[in-house]
Amino acid sequence: MEIHASWAPVFFFVTWTLAERFFPRVYPPSSGIADWALGVLSGLLLFASLVAHELGHAIAARWRGLTVYRISLFLFGGMVDIGVDEGNASDEFWLAAAGPAVSLLIALLWAALWVVAPGLDSQGRAMVLYLGVSNAILATFNLLPSYPLDGGRILRSALWSIGGDVSRATRFAQLSGQAMGGVILIAGVVWLVRGNVVDGGWLAALGLFLVLAARHAIPRSLLLPS
Ligand SMILES: [Zn+2]
Repeated sequence: MEIHASWAPVFFFVTWTLAERFFPRVYPPSSGIADWALGVLSGLLLFASLVAHELGHAIAARWRGLTVYRISLFLFGGMVDIGVDEGNASDEFWLAAAGPAVSLLIALLWAALWVVAPGLDSQGRAMVLYLGVSNAILATFNLLPSYPLDGGRILRSALWSIGGDVSRATRFAQLSGQAMGGVILIAGVVWLVRGNVVDGGWLAALGLFLVLAARHAIPRSLLLPS
């Protein structure tokens, strides 16, 4: 497993946001040191959730009899490299679906802990809430039908299976990603000019990321789930 250097600032940013913004606001009053300790712990658990998501893809690949060369984690998620020109449409489907399925399962486990452990103190509940919601968002975001996200790969596998033409299926899934990214980008810009600079800016950046990712996604191998 390879961890890209871009993860260090992301980890710091996540921990800082949690310690200085999220925990003090969700469950005040709190002490600075406790918030930072909880921030670091939550950051590490979030990181473990991402690793579990990628391992879901890798385990599905092994189960389908494909060769897994490398698992790498970088800024916006991860990637599982498998053998060039291996697999078919149903392999692609299971590979793509396995990651979001793991994230969803983790979200449900945190939700179950929230329900069965009402005795947790307020900071503990804030952490459980944060991790449950983060994993649900991770699953939902990755399921957007926007190639090369997992949802885009599921769409591609369906089109591939129906039409039998992998390059046409890829082009369509890329177009779907660009269209979806374009709509999110425009919504973000409208929100931004209406005065919500931070949220609008984030949404616009996300839309732009989807458009560029879909445009430049050239399948290095037949199957390359993110
Ligand atoms: Zn994934």
